[in-house]
Amino acid sequence: MKLLICGSAAAEGIPALFCGCRLCKKSFGRRKDTRSRTAYQFGEELRIDFGPDNLLHAQKYNLHFERLRHLFLTHSHADHLFSGDLYWRRPGFSMLPKNSFLDVYGNASAGNAIKHTLADKLEDAKMAFHLLSHGKKLKIKRPAAEIIPLNANHDKNQEPFIFIIGIGGKWTLVGNDTGWFPDETWEFLNGYVFNTVVLDCTMGRKKCRNNHMGVSEVVETFGKLKEMGCLSRKTRRIANHFSHNGGMLHSDLEKYFSKFGIVPAYDGMTLKI
Ligand SMILES: [Zn+2]
Ligand SMILES: [Zn+2]
Ligand SMILES: [Zn+2]
Repeated sequence: MKLLICGSAAAEGIPALFCGCRLCKKSFGRRKDTRSRTAYQFGEELRIDFGPDNLLHAQKYNLHFERLRHLFLTHSHADHLFSGDLYWRRPGFSMLPKNSFLDVYGNASAGNAIKHTLADKLEDAKMAFHLLSHGKKLKIKRPAAEIIPLNANHDKNQEPFIFIIGIGGKWTLVGNDTGWFPDETWEFLNGYVFNTVVLDCTMGRKKCRNNHMGVSEVVETFGKLKEMGCLSRKTRRIANHFSHNGGMLHSDLEKYFSKFGIVPAYDGMTLKI
């Protein structure tokens, strides 16, 4: 199966709307510096996050969202959930195939936003919402996968998650938006050996351990994962969810990370998992 990194930016995107900072000015026209809001697609049927760039992702990567079966949400911030797009599943807006059904999973804040947008009529849009909790494993059939939400160090007013995803005996860790992991998350990670790890790198060169991380904390987190035995020689180490406020171009990120074996993500990056 393919893991497609649909988007690689934090909230405002890069170049950001309305922004005239040095990085945004330099990013125009550069393929790997043109970043939409972070989201991930595992094949056609499993997606993580549903921010404001869903239509862009569908059109750019030929994604057929009517075939999407499972949508996992990290949290309800505007760059990760644009519930208005789910409204278009309703009759009169989309002709869903007969067997189309979308299970959406997230925290209470995400659930409330979706229920509010759809006026509590999720069944009209052939959808259901399921509440996640830290460490509680879910098994899905299409695609055959195990998904475990773990607490992130992010917005304290809701319960943000990172995800362990197991497909075909290979483990992936999708780790944004978060600062240095909470203790209970570190404890849970013990014993896993990951094939692919994606970490939050919102802040670039700025030091940050709460809510988000920068390049040095990404290196530090990979160091601790290695110490714990969670990484093998083959583990793909990836940084993602970049803000223009971090001040680093893709080439700056590549240069910084190269000696650590870490690769910065970009929109359209595809990995075989
Ligand atoms: Zn974010
Ligand atoms: Zn900017
Ligand atoms: Zn966030």
